Formats: sequence, structure tokens, C-alpha cells
Amino acid sequence: MKTALVCGAGGFIGTHLVKRLRSEGLWVRGVDLKLPEFDLSDASDFMQGDLRDDKLVQAVFDRRFDEVYQLAADMGGAGYIFTGDNDASILHNSAVINLNVLEACRRRDIGKVFYASSACVYPEHNQLDPLNPNCEESSAYPANPDSEYGWEKLFSERLYLSYARNYGLEVRIARFHNIFGELSTWQGGKEKVPAALCRKIALAADGETIEVWGDGTQTRSFLYIDECMEGILRLMRSGWSGPVNIGSDEMVCINELAAMIMRAADKNVFLEHIPGPEGVRGRNSDNRLIKKMLGWRPSSTLYQGIVPTYRWIQGEVQAQC
Ligand code: NAD
Repeated sequence: MKTALVCGAGGFIGTHLVKRLRSEGLWVRGVDLKLPEFDLSDASDFMQGDLRDDKLVQAVFDRRFDEVYQLAADMGGAGYIFTGDNDASILHNSAVINLNVLEACRRRDIGKVFYASSACVYPEHNQLDPLNPNCEESSAYPANPDSEYGWEKLFSERLYLSYARNYGLEVRIARFHNIFGELSTWQGGKEKVPAALCRKIALAADGETIEVWGDGTQTRSFLYIDECMEGILRLMRSGWSGPVNIGSDEMVCINELAAMIMRAADKNVFLEHIPGPEGVRGRNSDNRLIKKMLGWRPSSTLYQGIVPTYRWIQGEVQAQC
């Protein structure tokens, strides 16, 4: 039976990935500091522990896996990664996790390792124009990410590529662009903008006002979780080992995203724009490389993902009230 290890299996993407791998018949070990918050894990075996701890990592790698997916990271939305308050722990925690996991992969002669990088690696100077950002994979250098989170991702990409070069490890590196969907954090400070707006709109009555960070003209693209799963598995099973974007190229501004969520909620609320951490002015996934290398690119519309996501968050909000 094919085996996989998912590091970060208690998180949003990890919970979905374990489910998907299990549905394909793999034996899956999950590891995370915490159990999934919103669902039971489908993992065949779940180890709760800290991947910064080398002893735990040795216990996790007590066997050889055909596939390792490294998703564990100290991360959150703009309110967590762009304020500067968490920079030291973001850099330290995620770097130590990657150093430990990769070394264990080398010792265990792991078949293939997937690393979850981020669009946050792209240079700030290429994302100043909200209508014309450049996120082509090769544009990551000369490097100038706008956050320490992005710098750590860039460092770790290089670490994975070095292990591939020097130790023959097969690596796959995805630069995710704003993944959203059911089972994601939707409150507490680590939530991302789609979940935060879904929560605010679910809590507001028709005609009320909600707060939005920035002037709302900053642009992004958002990828629904099912498409992300498809991209991860297609990349892992392809022969392409360079970093590649996994994201949607349907770019919208935050005001448009809010309007789309209002449509899904069948509600009209007013937006009050307040100062807050925003990140770069514009970002969109450039999907030319993934199309060329995998013969596939995400194609579902943003609205198709917003509808089930809003319904799920609305249910969570109601359950809490
Ligand atoms: P998440 O925060 O839901 O999941 C990350 C998981 O890592 C959490 O469950 C957390 O408990 C775990 N973790 C953190 N430190 C750990 C430690 N020391 N030991 C064990 N587990 C630890 O995030 P996610 O949205 O599922 O993202 C998964 C990966 O994808 C992350 O590496 C993230 O940086 C990357 N990524 C995500 C997005 C996105 O939009 N969600 C975008 C770009 C990149």
C-alpha cells in the first residue's frame, strides 16, 4: 500500500489533503501541533506534536514514506504576518520545521517531498500596481518579499532545491496564492480575507456597515480548496521540480470580493474602509508555467468557491451565536 506523511495535517489545507489522499487509497500519517479544528482527521494515524522538536520528528519518520507533504508553518492572514509583531517566531518556527523535516527525509531516503511555498515570495516592487502585478515564477529574483513570512518561504524553497541538488531528493514546490474554502480559520486573528469577509457579512444585518482594511482597491486572486488539491496532486505526480504557482488568475479587488460574498449571502452591507495591514497593492497568479508543465491550470470561478465557503462560515457563525 502506498504511504504518505502530511505535516500540518491539523491545518486547513492539511485536513483536506489527508482526506483526498485517503480517498485515493493511501495509508496516511498526519502530524501537527493540534488536531483539526472543524472536522475529524481522516488520517490512518495522527501524531500530535511539535515538528521543531527533533525527537518528535524522528518518531514521525520511523518508517519510509512514498510521499511527504510539508505544509506545517507558523502562519496566518494579513493581521498575523504583516504587522511585524510575529516576525521572529514566523522566521524561527517555520525554518526549524523545514530544516528538521528535510533532514529526516534525507535520512529515510523519501521518495518525493512536496513543499508548500507562497506567492508572498514575489518582490514587492513588482506588485505596486494593483491592475498589473507580475508574479511570473522567474520574477522571484532579485528577491524583495514584503514580509519575513515571504523571506522564510524563499529560504526554504532554496533549502529544498539544495537537498534535491546535493542528495538527490525529489522535491515539488508550489507557490500557493490565497487558498480558501470550508474548514479554514474564520476568526481569532489568523483568518484570511475571504473568511474574514464571510464572517463579517454573516454577522451583519442587511444595510449594516462592516469594516474593510485598506481602500478596497488592492487586488488578489483566490483559489478554492478543491482546485488546490487537484494542483498539489498533479504537481506531486509530475516530473516538474521547479517552484510553480498554484493559484487562480481571476484577479479581483477586495471591494469586488465583498460584493461577491454579499451576492452569495443575498445581503447588502456597506463597507467602511479603515487603516489596517494590507500587504502588496496587487497580486495575481501567473498560470503560464503550470499550464505548460502540467497541461492543467485551475479553472473554476471564484464565485463557485465563494458560495459553499459562505454557507459553511454562516453555519459556524450561527452555531456560535
Ligand atoms: P494552517 O495554519 O491552517 O496550517 C498549518 C498547520 O501547521 C497548523 O495546523 C499548525 O498547527 C501547524 N504547525 C505550525 N507549527 C507547527 C509545529 N511546530 N509543529 C507541528 N505543526 C505545526 O495553514 P494552511 O492554510 O493550511 O497552509 C498550509 C501551508 O500552505 C503553509 O505552509 C502555508 O504557509 C502555505 N500557504 C498557504 C496559503 C493559504 O492561502 N492558505 C497561501 C500560501 C501558502
